[in-house]
Amino acid sequence: MGGKMGKQTTAVHGGGRKDDAFGAVNEPIYMTSNYRIPTDGTPVDWSGTESNIYARNRNVNQMVLQDKLCALTGAEDCAVFGSGVAALAGVFTTFLDSGDHVVVSEVCYSATNLLFRDYLPKKYGIDVTFVDTTDTEAVREAIGPKTRLVHVETPGNPTTEISDVEAIAASAHERGALVSVDATFAGPICIYPLKLGADLEIHSMTKYINGHGDSLGGCVLGRKELLAELKELAMVNYGGILSPFNAWLISRGLVTLPIRMAQHGDTAMAVARFLEKSPAVRFVWYPGLESHPQRERAEKLMKGRYSGMIAFDIEGDDMTHQRFLDELKLVTHAVSLGDTESLIVYYDKNSDKLPHYPEIFRKGFFRFSIGLEDGEDIIEDMEQAFRACGLI
Ligand SMILES: *Cc1c(COP(=O)(O)O)cnc(C)c1O
Repeated sequence: MGGKMGKQTTAVHGGGRKDDAFGAVNEPIYMTSNYRIPTDGTPVDWSGTESNIYARNRNVNQMVLQDKLCALTGAEDCAVFGSGVAALAGVFTTFLDSGDHVVVSEVCYSATNLLFRDYLPKKYGIDVTFVDTTDTEAVREAIGPKTRLVHVETPGNPTTEISDVEAIAASAHERGALVSVDATFAGPICIYPLKLGADLEIHSMTKYINGHGDSLGGCVLGRKELLAELKELAMVNYGGILSPFNAWLISRGLVTLPIRMAQHGDTAMAVARFLEKSPAVRFVWYPGLESHPQRERAEKLMKGRYSGMIAFDIEGDDMTHQRFLDELKLVTHAVSLGDTESLIVYYDKNSDKLPHYPEIFRKGFFRFSIGLEDGEDIIEDMEQAFRACGLI
């Protein structure tokens, strides 16, 4: 096909097919741990990821998924892993050496936080500075001569804060540091970190990319030379690979990513506007709302696609918050996000994560992942729960 395809066409056809002996239209699942090696005397690279030897080096369903993700994001190369955390740990352990310095978002996923607060400094002597990455100047000041990596999460989980990836990448590159962006909260459709200057884009595919809440997975996108290093160490030698079956499931989910993200975004906007107007609500942050603290930046980086993640809190004490969760009938009280069904979790005021979040979050709040239900039904569910709690 000539010319530039639309996003949804790319999600359907991008990456192309692999050869299959029977001409199957849909990609078969290659449940094989190993492949026949040519006997023509060609030297075998046992740690190589460019030919089929063993499913930990490369496997067909993994390649199909990687190629489609590259087509959708414009990345040169991609590596997929057994979970988002395996992808993150793969990046950190591949590109950091002992004695290196890292600058990290103060607001980040709990495993990222623990790796940088505890394990990586203690086990490998990595020096870490946590900063509020929404403050571009603070990031610039934190970067020093030993800084090897700046790791940003945007939108931040769980606050939805937006960091200026473009400006951060410019400061980091000036000082010779790499920039990795965990963009899980947006999925690879609402923000394009690589186009904004990031070196590595990371997603938990468990969330929007798979989108159906039935598989874990992670991916890293970026330039070929960085990905070659990552594949050899993190995939082949640490072994955090994605199984053929889960790669197949996630490839199947990925086909509908653009239409799902459009729906998640439209519904989240309607729900966020409803919450903003409700007297039951103490605050609401959604990057699509004019009231979001980084609204202009969100508009510049996300261009009208604000994903489906909302952070908000209601009035009332702890009992009221528990009661509210109990009264919800459609929305499910569960972790994870980016699923077909709406999911909500409560961070109560005793959570040890709260001190790292902006002031308004420290009394406790909800992280709300808007699913693919009709917006009116989600709003009605919230309304009846507010009423049952005596909030309206
Ligand atoms: C869920 C999540 C992860 C971890 O992904 P898993 O697939 O659960 O290992 C990493 N970063 C963010 C922002 C996430 O939301």
